Amino acid sequence: MNLTKILILFFTVLFVYPLNAASLTKRTCCVTTSRDMMIFSNMEFRAAIKKTNYYSMKKDILNTSEGNLEITVLGHASLMFKLKGQVIYVDPTSDQVDAKALPKADLILITHDHGDHWDVNTVKALQKAGTRLIYTKICQQKLEGGQVLANGEETSVLGIGIKAVPAYNIQHKRDNGEPFHPKGNGNGYVLTIGDKKVYIAGDTEFIPEMKDLIRIDVAFLPCMLPYTMSEDMFLDAAKAIQPNILYPYHYGKSNLEPLCGRIEKACSTEVRLR
Ligand code: ZN
Ligand code: ZN
Repeated sequence: MNLTKILILFFTVLFVYPLNAASLTKRTCCVTTSRDMMIFSNMEFRAAIKKTNYYSMKKDILNTSEGNLEITVLGHASLMFKLKGQVIYVDPTSDQVDAKALPKADLILITHDHGDHWDVNTVKALQKAGTRLIYTKICQQKLEGGQVLANGEETSVLGIGIKAVPAYNIQHKRDNGEPFHPKGNGNGYVLTIGDKKVYIAGDTEFIPEMKDLIRIDVAFLPCMLPYTMSEDMFLDAAKAIQPNILYPYHYGKSNLEPLCGRIEKACSTEVRLR
């Protein structure tokens, strides 16, 4: 074997094999068919190479009567908030979050048990003594020690009011007729932080319960078929909730800029694509 062949072999083993292996072993959420597998493999592959340093990511500040809330969209469904030095994660997964490079959590919220939201190893890596974990009954089967909230239940952690609200599919179902997200399995969360309310929708379609959400300052809404909302549903949800600030999240490769324009025309909402 000449030197060129040895070098090619070396770089193949070093770079190409790990990327392929990573894309094969990534967890896939909400996945049942090979078509779905393809969509998520591509998305996760992109997410894996997109995973960026939190410290260089765009951060937004929301002024609340409890102090400034720092908001960072880590990617896909993973969010991070900081309030008075306390660190809060929502659905942190290894596809988006390098747990070794990030601060430990004071509070972790998990919306549901699908792999792009509930990653036990990442949660464990972010935990420290006293970290509070809020999740669903199904999530509890994989990791004890958290507090289960069912739809409609409320608690308070770190001075933040946390209400679990429904997140489910009405139209979009698996081949066996079961919704991708059956009602009652997953949570959205409404956080009350001083005088501000933050709504994290989780994996949901536009559901009637969204009309009960009033005076939402910041909303995170998913836009990805077939698991969550179509663009039309997303627009309807934005009109129903009328948040001051809207972050589309969980939207894969979609170009949402035209949709954001439609929303800003229809509502007095500032849409932030991150
Ligand atoms: Zn899901
Ligand atoms: Zn999801």
